Amino acid sequence: MLITLRETADRLMAANSLILTAHVNPDGDAIGSCLGLKFLLETMGKRVQVIIDDDIPKFLNIMPGIEEIKKPVEESYEADYLVILDACLDRVGVLPEKCKAPVLNIDHHGTNDELADYLYLDAESAATAEIIYRLAKALGIRFDKDSATAVYIGLATDSGYFKYSNTTPHTMRAAAELMETGIRPEKISEAIETKDFSVIQGMAKALQTVELFADGKVAGVFLDHELTSSLDNTEGFIDLIRVIDGVDVSVVLKAVEPEVCRVSMRSKVTDVSLIAAGMGGGGHKRAAGCTIKMPFAEAKKYLMSEILKALEV
Ligand code: AMP
Ligand code: MN
Ligand code: MN
Repeated sequence: MLITLRETADRLMAANSLILTAHVNPDGDAIGSCLGLKFLLETMGKRVQVIIDDDIPKFLNIMPGIEEIKKPVEESYEADYLVILDACLDRVGVLPEKCKAPVLNIDHHGTNDELADYLYLDAESAATAEIIYRLAKALGIRFDKDSATAVYIGLATDSGYFKYSNTTPHTMRAAAELMETGIRPEKISEAIETKDFSVIQGMAKALQTVELFADGKVAGVFLDHELTSSLDNTEGFIDLIRVIDGVDVSVVLKAVEPEVCRVSMRSKVTDVSLIAAGMGGGGHKRAAGCTIKMPFAEAKKYLMSEILKALEV
């Protein structure tokens, strides 16, 4: 059921204990939204746990409270609400099976399946963290440095440091206000963007696989299972190719298991959320993804035919 921001705030206010979670393969917005909301709710005396069914990427180590995030190792969980952030029910792993509390879903993906008991969806927000910022206003809670850092990281990472088309005056105003707590954008971006030397070597290997399609309108990097296994991180690879002159759709395909491939897409014109949704995933017009359960070569063929079919001229 779709609910308003006011009703979302009222439901959170009425709850005593909450479990917050976000999508697997968590990014800065998923984790920033969880921890930002956790800090804010704790100032209201709520009992809050953040549980995510995946590993936490090292590049987010600067996030305050990141060490408190747990995996869903218990048999079952009790809470007044299971709050799902930055995703819908089908992308958060086992937690919805282990926690039977009503699901309160807060998301900014237009492809949300709307199956949650209560859903606040705003596809105009650059990040779920931007909704968390507005929730703090609705709840009348002030940001401190920790909550501001978490929410700022969500805003910054999902908007490409305020340069993607999802950036609005609201995003900028939220970031400006969060900065008033004393957080430093350059320290945050430096910490997030610093990479091990081995990652740069991995990027060099990955870039050797780059191919252009459709007269240069599509660029792809294709990481088979052997190459993927030799890389500990592929964060940012897609940004290396989406800047190629003339490219509309860019894509990174990586075989995370011999028969499971993960896809990331970015675009300038074509709506890649539709392409991703057609393959069982989702996302936004300009940034979307999916998982294809096929061996690498087969997945590549399927993916490229779906992209070429969808190209907008
Ligand atoms: P990524 O390429 O992983 O940065 O993802 C780009 C956007 O697509 C993000 O908003 C993701 O949340 C979304 N996305 C990625 N993979 C999926 C998926 N399997 N299902 C739904 N949305 C996805
Ligand atoms: Mn996300
Ligand atoms: Mn997001």
